[in-house]
Amino acid sequence: MNIDHFIMTKELLKPCPFCGGKAEESSRYDSDDNRPDGEQLFIECSDCCAKSAEFYAVTINDIHLTPIQRKEQKDNLLQARKDSIEAWNKRCRRKYH
Ligand SMILES: [Zn+2]
Repeated sequence: MNIDHFIMTKELLKPCPFCGGKAEESSRYDSDDNRPDGEQLFIECSDCCAKSAEFYAVTINDIHLTPIQRKEQKDNLLQARKDSIEAWNKRCRRKYH
């Protein structure tokens, strides 16, 4: 995964709703036979390992992909990342205002 694709910052992540620990973005490669290869993106607490839901983005690395397909993959990856951050932040019960 190319980190240059990602423009959002870690400050957007709220602390862990369970222990207040530092949340970190994480991903794992998924090569399930039932769908194209891709990345599972999720947020994880670095202290207690609480985890957000996982969001899937196809990341086929093929020289035959068109620029449009590459752009689509990039957008999907960014969307999955946004979704995982949102899912994590929604679970946060702490009030800031
Ligand atoms: Zn935690």
